[in-house]
Amino acid sequence: MRTIVLAVSFLALSAPAQNSRPPAPPAQSDEKPITSFPYTPGLDVLSMDKTIDPCVDFYQYSCGGWMKNNPIPADQARWSVYGKLYQDNQRFLWGILDQLAKQKAGRDPNQQKIGDFFGACMDEAAVNKLGAAPLKPYMDRIGGLKTVADLPAVLAFLHTSIETSGLLFRLTANQDFENSESVIAFAGAGGLGLPDRDYYTKDDERSKDIRAKYVAHVQRMFELLGDTPDVAKREAATVMDVEAALAKASLTRVERREPHNLFHKVDFKGLQELTPDFDWAMYVKSSGLAPQTAFNVTEPAFYKEVEHQLKTRPMADLQTYLRWHTVRAEAPFLSSEFVLENFNFFSKTLRGVPQLRPRWKRCVSLVDAQLGDALGQEFVKRAFSPELKQKTLTMTKQIQEAMARDIESLTWMGPRTKQQALEKLHRMVNKIGYPDKWRDYAAVQVKAMDFLGNVERTTQFKARYELDKIGKPVDHTEWGMTPPTVNAYYDPQMNDINFPAGVLQPPLYDPKMDDAPNYGNTGGTIGHELTHGFDDEGRQFDAHGNLKDWWTEQDARAFTARAQCVVDQYAQYTVVDDIKINSKLTEGEDIADLGGLILAWMAWKDQTSGQQLTPRDGLTPDQRFFVGYAQWACTNDRAENLRANAITDPHSPGKYRVNGLVVNMPEFEKSFSCKAGQPMVKEDRCRVW
Ligand SMILES: [Zn+2]
Repeated sequence: MRTIVLAVSFLALSAPAQNSRPPAPPAQSDEKPITSFPYTPGLDVLSMDKTIDPCVDFYQYSCGGWMKNNPIPADQARWSVYGKLYQDNQRFLWGILDQLAKQKAGRDPNQQKIGDFFGACMDEAAVNKLGAAPLKPYMDRIGGLKTVADLPAVLAFLHTSIETSGLLFRLTANQDFENSESVIAFAGAGGLGLPDRDYYTKDDERSKDIRAKYVAHVQRMFELLGDTPDVAKREAATVMDVEAALAKASLTRVERREPHNLFHKVDFKGLQELTPDFDWAMYVKSSGLAPQTAFNVTEPAFYKEVEHQLKTRPMADLQTYLRWHTVRAEAPFLSSEFVLENFNFFSKTLRGVPQLRPRWKRCVSLVDAQLGDALGQEFVKRAFSPELKQKTLTMTKQIQEAMARDIESLTWMGPRTKQQALEKLHRMVNKIGYPDKWRDYAAVQVKAMDFLGNVERTTQFKARYELDKIGKPVDHTEWGMTPPTVNAYYDPQMNDINFPAGVLQPPLYDPKMDDAPNYGNTGGTIGHELTHGFDDEGRQFDAHGNLKDWWTEQDARAFTARAQCVVDQYAQYTVVDDIKINSKLTEGEDIADLGGLILAWMAWKDQTSGQQLTPRDGLTPDQRFFVGYAQWACTNDRAENLRANAITDPHSPGKYRVNGLVVNMPEFEKSFSCKAGQPMVKEDRCRVW
């Protein structure tokens, strides 16, 4: 899929997402693949808790039943309506893949690839027999490094053969910020093992504890590679040392939300001057790229630190660092002792997950990641009808029209900026369901009995596919998510909103339901993605996806003041323990949530104007709109996962994506006849869009 630097998704991209009350059930080992989706209604009164006053805690009122009835399965960091739907999608894909793995005749080339990939992945005994042997070619290359001059060729090989953000840095293909039609090389920062630079820089007890556990984990991995405990201990300390230095030189997530902080275009000479000890000509050549003239160095200070490391570290330290990142990236595909050690730290310690996901889930996810367009075609054929595409497209257009009316009616924005905003809105492209053009996998070979080989060849195919875009015009048909994904995103450089088929299913979009909950739920999500084009980050890109200021100074000031209201509001909410929301990190998402539901409300009122709507399930149509919205967000979360997400996730927890939003909508207050002074009635409401 596309490498996307700035695209913003509806949920955290890494699927993981407090509720210690219900006991954790075991991951269901008796689960079977399915051939049709279990139906879950778009608004479910059994998921509500009607003993709660909606004006006191609307999230609890809408989701209390769901939270009680849906304890977190043992193999999950969080459990949510989205997570459950994703699991249904996975079981459905499992059915497809299981059949294609067994079927030997009559498969088309894509079906052969995904079937054999899955079959080889499921053969755990064969994988276990190999132990660490599949790492040998990588370790030999790293072991053969003598001087820094050897490094570029080895790094280019590793960068294109294993999937990792690690290994010092990474070169990717991305649209030029000042010319969105052209794809150039981005030299990005990376190279950390922990999920964020803050894990290395924070000095509280919990951060220190996690660092100590991380170093112990790195040591155990080196021991699994055959090093003695003494040697492994020293190696783990070296890894921490190198990574801590890189972390200090990395931007924070909040800093990375400002696109100007990530845009430093240089020519080849400029890149070479930044890191004199690294032979970029050799790296570019070894990566199979033509000589390049334009690079965007996203974080120059990071590259200065890379240079410092190359200059001051003995080669043995750099080899240790590279060996660690290689085994870390490959551990999920190796024998069970590697899989478990990797799980124990990254899932159990960091996110509180008691149990490893069953192998079928890991294999389905991997086929989706490696051969997503081949698997996606099978999914779409069975699960996404043209009628459904048409219905959701119509809703998208209605919400776009609502936004046009909304922009025209704004009192804080002048006519010049309004005209630019409307142009951006009209040029925004809607992508619904699946790509118009599927990726061609003819060049990649998948063999029935060769799991590790399949992983390597598909990884190399994807890396090649990405690098080959550099120097070419952008392909506007491309997607950054696969069709079965239960998520959505806006991409400010493509200026498009993307809704995979996987997210347009019940209970999120339910064709059997009345309009109210569908507009609240899926309509709210469509509005959310649209609003991203105009949040604090998206608003800096113009109608063509270029980083170009189209705001008058006065209008920009008015926007910032309105956005600050949202930032101040969410800063007061507690995630877990004494951790508050980092609302400068969640600013864009919180603005998108609020703007999105206001637009969905406008579109729904328009759609149903003149209709005589009647109450259902004891709820008025207006109330059903809001409960329908809230029920997408029903979530049970583990405390460890909440702590991790407080650092890494730009989205607020589900509870505040509901309660923090409705307090800003007078329509909500009226729908539930709430009174001034009640918790869900805010005196000074925020409103951006
Ligand atoms: Zn979003």
